[in-house]
Amino acid sequence: MNTADYLIVGQGLAGTLLAFNLLKKGKQIHVIDGVNKNTASNVAAGIINPVTGRRVVKSWMYEKLYPAAKQTYTELQDLLGGEYFHSKKIYRILFSAGEENKWLSKTALAEFAQYVVDPPLVPAFMDQVNAGFSAGEIHNAAQVDLPSLTKDFRHYLKTKNLFTEAFLDYEKLEFQDGKVKYGNCIYNKVIFCEGHATRFNPWFSYLPFEVAKGEVLLIQSKELKALADSGQLLKHKLFIVPLQGDLFWVGSTYDWDPKDELPSQEKRTQLEEGLAKILNCDYQIVDQKAAIRPAIKDRRPVFGLHPEKSELAVFNGFGTKGASIGPYWAIEFLEYLESGGDLPEEVNISRYNDLFSSKEPV
Ligand SMILES: Cc1cc2nc3c(=O)[nH]c(=O)nc-3n(C[C@H](O)[C@H](O)[C@H](O)COP(=O)(O)OP(=O)(O)OC[C@H]3O[C@@H](n4cnc5c(N)ncnc54)[C@H](O)[C@@H]3O)c2cc1C
Repeated sequence: MNTADYLIVGQGLAGTLLAFNLLKKGKQIHVIDGVNKNTASNVAAGIINPVTGRRVVKSWMYEKLYPAAKQTYTELQDLLGGEYFHSKKIYRILFSAGEENKWLSKTALAEFAQYVVDPPLVPAFMDQVNAGFSAGEIHNAAQVDLPSLTKDFRHYLKTKNLFTEAFLDYEKLEFQDGKVKYGNCIYNKVIFCEGHATRFNPWFSYLPFEVAKGEVLLIQSKELKALADSGQLLKHKLFIVPLQGDLFWVGSTYDWDPKDELPSQEKRTQLEEGLAKILNCDYQIVDQKAAIRPAIKDRRPVFGLHPEKSELAVFNGFGTKGASIGPYWAIEFLEYLESGGDLPEEVNISRYNDLFSSKEPV
């Protein structure tokens, strides 16, 4: 029988970040993932944005999250040889005088100073884009190629025999003297990084997920070269994000009561109609993708040990912002697992202990 420190279940962004940091610490790990193309990490644009929403708010903990993200993705680039982290600006269209007033009054606050430039120069790509009322420019943003990162990291794990392509069968976990046996190996801990699928995990399904399905289009357009070359992302009624060459990500939609994780005709039509109102140049739709965002009710991630079985842990709840939130919290969570101490209440699984007590035991 083999032994190892950790079994990581799920190798989207969350599992990738944990596995990477554990290997850095010299830990013995194994990773298992069923490899399904409709996962959040495979569909996301990977935008890291310091200023978001209609209410124009500065993103939670951005001063800590951004440097940790840049550092981690740079280290992953060095390890894997890909280019995943791209520093970007965001050109955000404002659609009315009211919206502009809100933007100007909020971004005049000192805490926005390093993130916003007003008024921005009108970029060349606006020749291909229908203008709004005015615009703002966001600095210190980024875009992370999450599909390539997770794919390349999976390949790396495979070359080291640290990866099994399968969905974990919960019924085959055996608890032995504070450890967990799965297959032919005994682990000190199993960490679940299953994204929205944790809703169906018998130990953690009590967590209050409020998931949102999202759909996106991939388009090709030679006429959007100015946007591809600009170092900017466009936030119009939809986000338009340059990928490689003349390929662009367009999204996204929200469905708060998803029945499946498959692309739908309804959202395709919504995206197509939205895009037709944004661009005034030629483009071809080359793909449509869908996935479910793993969001928790209070919009904060959730980490920690199971209330009764401390051999089981969860690292989840990245919602709409895994690219920025994940790297910092992967480091903090491993520090907690390895050295003890407390996780902040805001992200600690213990904040939902009352929900656990009210559930039927598994
Ligand atoms: C349309 C859309 C756009 C988005 N845009 C952005 C963005 O611009 N910026 C941003 O930061 N975030 C964005 N997100 C959110 C981001 O994708 C998530 O926060 C992040 O990818 C979540 O990663 P995860 O690893 O927790 O989950 P996932 O990516 O869902 O990965 C979970 C993994 O677990 C595996 N798995 C599940 N159950 C099991 C099991 N029992 N056994 C084995 N394997 C299992 C799955 O196969 C999967 O690979 C977007 C999401 C969507 C859907």
